[in-house]
Amino acid sequence: MKVVKTVAELKDFVRAEKNAGHQIGLVPTMGFLHEGHLALAEKARKDNDAVIMSIFVNPLQFGPNEDFERYPRDVERDTKLAAAAGVDCLFVPEVEEMYPAPSVVTMTVAARTDKMCGVKRPGHFDGVVTVVTKLFHLAQPDKAYFGLKDAQQFAVIDGLVNSLNFPVEIIGVETIREEDGLAKSSRNVYLTEEERIQAPYLQKALQLGVQSAVQGEKSTEKVIERTISYLQEHAGAAVDYVELLSYPELEPLEQVQGKMVLAAAVNYSKARLIDNIIFNVNEGR
Ligand code: AMP
Repeated sequence: MKVVKTVAELKDFVRAEKNAGHQIGLVPTMGFLHEGHLALAEKARKDNDAVIMSIFVNPLQFGPNEDFERYPRDVERDTKLAAAAGVDCLFVPEVEEMYPAPSVVTMTVAARTDKMCGVKRPGHFDGVVTVVTKLFHLAQPDKAYFGLKDAQQFAVIDGLVNSLNFPVEIIGVETIREEDGLAKSSRNVYLTEEERIQAPYLQKALQLGVQSAVQGEKSTEKVIERTISYLQEHAGAAVDYVELLSYPELEPLEQVQGKMVLAAAVNYSKARLIDNIIFNVNEGR
């Protein structure tokens, strides 16, 4: 596996792969890799001739009071894990390499961001589409892999690619979980011992909500209420939001119908956790 830190080196790698007629898969990450990231890499490995993984904690997508400085980092360990997962090129740029000068053009997401995490994280998705656009231009992937754990991020990137005709296919990968159902996340290291025991109730609450919808509850409000009260009873965290929206449009629904996402965010003492279930009332999950 090649480890490259500069745009110039990455371009050399991409040029050689393109000249060889190879199909490229891209896996963008912020590092501190876990099985969720590795599932994306393994899927990319199966689908493509060459796999590029990026590790970049993107300052543009962090708010002033968020965890950019203390976001967990361990490039040495990540390098070993990425190599074992079959990554061919690991791109680990410094901030100055990605943003050497103030950008002449900035990007603003026009839809799908006034709900869920977009409300509490203004500018977050503008930062996401900016870095993803740069990575798409640099890596020129045929396919790019994103986790459905970040359902709103996937919906926004789907909008980016479709609205602006990016020549890339985006692939959503199912959430990888701990045995007790907690979604794997680099931020789980922030949980205290007690919070770690309570955190799986986030997914359990969402399952309960989805179950009621699948079993015939038509009121979105009732599904949301049920999910919130279960969370409040069991999760030991402050509920930021529970929302039931159409997917991937993220529009409010008059009643339970079609393809939807039931999503929640909760705040523990040092960790903000998100999770969701994308489901269809006609087909169950
Ligand atoms: P991050 O490093 O948190 O920015 O995540 C990089 C990519 O991995 C994103 O597309 C995430 O949605 C995805 N990802 C993170 N956690 C998981 C998980 N538990 N299962 C599947 N994909 C994940």
